[in-house]
Amino acid sequence: MTKSRLDIKDFMRQNIRNLKAYTTARNEFTGQADVFLDANENPYGDLNRYPDPQQIAIKQILSDLKGMKTEQMFVGNGSDEIIDIAFRIFCESGRDKAICFTPSYGMYQVSADINGVELIEVPMERDFIPDPRTALEFIDDSVKLMLLCSPNNPTGNSIPKETIIELLASFKGIVVVDEAYIEFSDKESMTSLIEEYPQLIVSQTLSKAWGLANLRIGLAYASEEMVSWFNKVKAPYNVSGASQAEALKVLRNPAPVLKRIDQILKDKQRLIKTLNELSFVKTIFPSDANFLLVEMEDADSIYESLCNVGIIVRNRSKLIENCLRITIGSEEENARLINALKYL
Ligand code: PMP
Repeated sequence: MTKSRLDIKDFMRQNIRNLKAYTTARNEFTGQADVFLDANENPYGDLNRYPDPQQIAIKQILSDLKGMKTEQMFVGNGSDEIIDIAFRIFCESGRDKAICFTPSYGMYQVSADINGVELIEVPMERDFIPDPRTALEFIDDSVKLMLLCSPNNPTGNSIPKETIIELLASFKGIVVVDEAYIEFSDKESMTSLIEEYPQLIVSQTLSKAWGLANLRIGLAYASEEMVSWFNKVKAPYNVSGASQAEALKVLRNPAPVLKRIDQILKDKQRLIKTLNELSFVKTIFPSDANFLLVEMEDADSIYESLCNVGIIVRNRSKLIENCLRITIGSEEENARLINALKYL
């Protein structure tokens, strides 16, 4: 039996389908040129020229690393931009809806609100894995976009591949799998599914494992058609040349990054062990990310006490009762945290 492939245009806003993308003289031009009088730039200085709007050098390195075509990649101003563009392409303000599984990353709600889109929140059980059958009860034709987060923020667990495939097979709409923390995980990325599912967008970032949050570089992997729509909708020069140059340096020499990931994962195991020795720690949820969701007795007051000694963790008690989300810091930061917790 052949599976029918979705046509992503069926889920697209009408104005986007009809959009004529902005072009510059430089992307209309082919050939050699050394006099640039087309973009009203200043002829003087070192940062006077607009950057590469397609971030080709970055995509080429990633293409070698990931074995994917550069045409299947989009570079965003952080992966937050990728989420926002997905809303802007597929959700008509005031009419269409999106769906996510809670608790999850708070920007999904903010992005939905900014775009005037109702976000349906399907609560997950305590295993924090979306249930495709429950999801279907919430879905009708107005739901155009599904946001999945794996590993999930703030719970840390991954969604099994079979569950993601089940959701892709049953939901007629666009699916974003947000893999911001994937490099900390030993689970496989869903990028292997993009050939089969034209509706799939896998979003990653240089902000977490790559240690480049300051640069604001997010990455989306999707079908060539999907990427071409993202390119039409993005701001023309969405990633600065300075950011591209700094990212290239790190991407060209990934060995220190891999070493640091390793260090963070070892420190995570150490932190789990020490936290488990504290009497008020009730549960440390399984985590594939660089943070731990920790259930404690009276998390609010522990949060306050930590703030009072200058240690900030994320209080997620309103989402998951008595839970703090703790990022794995440097060895010294982790030691300060443990020390503070021991003498509460
Ligand atoms: N997705 C998730 C799940 C996140 O936790 C974050 C940042 N906290 C982002 C996306 C956004 O990351 P950035 O915009 O820095 O790429």
